[in-house]
Amino acid sequence: MSEEKFQFQAEVSKLLDIVVHSLYSNKQIFLRELISNASDACDRLRYLAITDPGLIASDAAFRITLAVDKAARTLTVADNGVGMNHAELVENLGTIARSGTAAFLSQMSGDKRGDVNLIGQFGVGFYSSFMVADKVEVTARRADENSGWRWVSDGKGEFVIDAAPEATRGVSIKLHLRKDEDEFLEPTRLRHIVKTYSDHIALPVVLLGEDGKEETLNAASALWTRPRQDITPEQYKEFYHHVAHAFDEPWLTLHYKAEGAIEYTGLLFIPEQKPFDLFTVERKQKVKLYVRRVFITDDCEELLPPYLRFMRGIVDSQDLPLNISREMLQHNPVLSKIKNGLVRRILSELKQKAEDTSSYAKFWETFGAVLKEGLYEDFERRTELLEMCRFHTTRSGGDLISLDTYLERMKPGQEHIHYITGDDANTLMRSPHLEGYAAKGVEVVLLTDPVDEFWVSSIGDYKGKTFVSAARSGTDLDKITGETTEAPQPAAETLPGATLEALITALKAALGSQVKDVRASDRLTESPVCLVADQNDMSIHLERLLRQHKQMAEPVSRVLEINPRHALIRRLAALTQDGGAAADTLHDAAWLLLDQARIIGGEVPTDAVAFARRVTAMMEKGLVG
Ligand code: ADP
Ligand code: MG
Repeated sequence: MSEEKFQFQAEVSKLLDIVVHSLYSNKQIFLRELISNASDACDRLRYLAITDPGLIASDAAFRITLAVDKAARTLTVADNGVGMNHAELVENLGTIARSGTAAFLSQMSGDKRGDVNLIGQFGVGFYSSFMVADKVEVTARRADENSGWRWVSDGKGEFVIDAAPEATRGVSIKLHLRKDEDEFLEPTRLRHIVKTYSDHIALPVVLLGEDGKEETLNAASALWTRPRQDITPEQYKEFYHHVAHAFDEPWLTLHYKAEGAIEYTGLLFIPEQKPFDLFTVERKQKVKLYVRRVFITDDCEELLPPYLRFMRGIVDSQDLPLNISREMLQHNPVLSKIKNGLVRRILSELKQKAEDTSSYAKFWETFGAVLKEGLYEDFERRTELLEMCRFHTTRSGGDLISLDTYLERMKPGQEHIHYITGDDANTLMRSPHLEGYAAKGVEVVLLTDPVDEFWVSSIGDYKGKTFVSAARSGTDLDKITGETTEAPQPAAETLPGATLEALITALKAALGSQVKDVRASDRLTESPVCLVADQNDMSIHLERLLRQHKQMAEPVSRVLEINPRHALIRRLAALTQDGGAAADTLHDAAWLLLDQARIIGGEVPTDAVAFARRVTAMMEKGLVG
């Protein structure tokens, strides 16, 4: 069979162009990437061989070899792992499948220097070979197939694939080094690079000397089996990069051995940066499961709950059987004990980290929205998780505070935790719903993550205090004595009961089914009106979220609260007595007030044309009349 030609996916070409034309100072990381891939490939085959030992019968000693040919100026990185077949070569080395890399590409600006910084942050895996090589030959044979293939490219838009009958199991990558890259032919240099970036790799990385001597360059034992005091922060970091396919610093490194009824080792990390796939529908956890140092799966949902899916790293169990299958992992009692232990340990570690307020705030801004999913998914740990939550409030001045701090600052007579939900804190801070709270100095928790709507409505209480929405009827605001920050204002005159009733009746008549009810408000001090959700109705913000996601069509009707102390409302009350032409004005005013309340709440007027007509009419009366 003759050579076949393929085009790189457009994104790959773009990436390669930047990789090749940038004067990237950290070129040696290509070796880390190739060794990392080789190690993954051996892990995968080792697992397959548990059920199919024939796959490795001829060669069970997994290893990665580096071979240098000074005359030909080539460096070859080879492994005896799972290998690739024709289709896999095309797919894996011709496209970009990884979501992280795809997101990385979308951030590239074409500005070479900026983009190179990004490469440092994200890594580009196999394609980093082209930083040092102007031609790359990949010879591969899949462990369960008989024919081998050779993939060749100069990284300029296309690659060719040809049969390679001589290929042995695994993958061998021959790099034809660019002209100024001779350093990668030097044993000293290779030794140093492997020690720096790949020492944690559990397989031997062996340098084949041109004289036939072999030298193992790394420690070749799984990092997590080594004593903590023998592991440097750099080694932990390199392991994190390898295991998480990440390139940031770990915010938290947690390495421990659980002993007792269930034995396992955890080497776990919390990233500093938000992974790109944090909010996909699958909400998959990413920690890898090993059994007695053999990689089993990176897709074990039973290992950690979805609300800890930002965790990275490995768990190595002593107790699970090696030949465990996916099905056996479901409802496995050993695994569920490991999961319990892990969750307990991670949460207790986080609680300790919370003592460093500014560092914890960074974690919270990155992953708090995920952890909060536990508030409604892990009922048993609800209170514990609530303690760990941090919030922006109307009085926290941009800082994050805990609910305990909130409770300490409650006002005399205050019995609830008051909160408001919305899209962003700045808009919420100016919401009319908060006027009464501000006047009494009552702190209101600002909830701006979509997940907040889901836990806050089902949470019940925290330390005996229930959560009460500032955008819902029945606030109990009048029970709070509070304290005004400004000099006490003379209480504004309010409408006499009968007049107020008459106005409410008139407004209800004008608005009909547009509102559920019209009521006098105790939360407004400056605005004439606002819309609130009735006691047991869905919150207005949640309704909007659901509608944005097209999960709900029928609008819920709302309660219009009016401020009987507001001059405009009192003027309208006077109009209700007049009758005649005043009735039309009152009707228009009622609609304008409702539409205004909708606009402030982030909605649009139901009838924009009618709204504009009424504004014009009112302005005419004010300006012309
Ligand atoms: P990543 O490792 O993050 O998936 P890479 O660009 O490093 O991205 O590798 C792309 C893919 O190519 C890998 O996911 C793997 O499927 C395949 N691959 C790369 N190197 C090897 C190898 N030595 N053996 C088997 N498969 C490999
Ligand atoms: Mg890789």
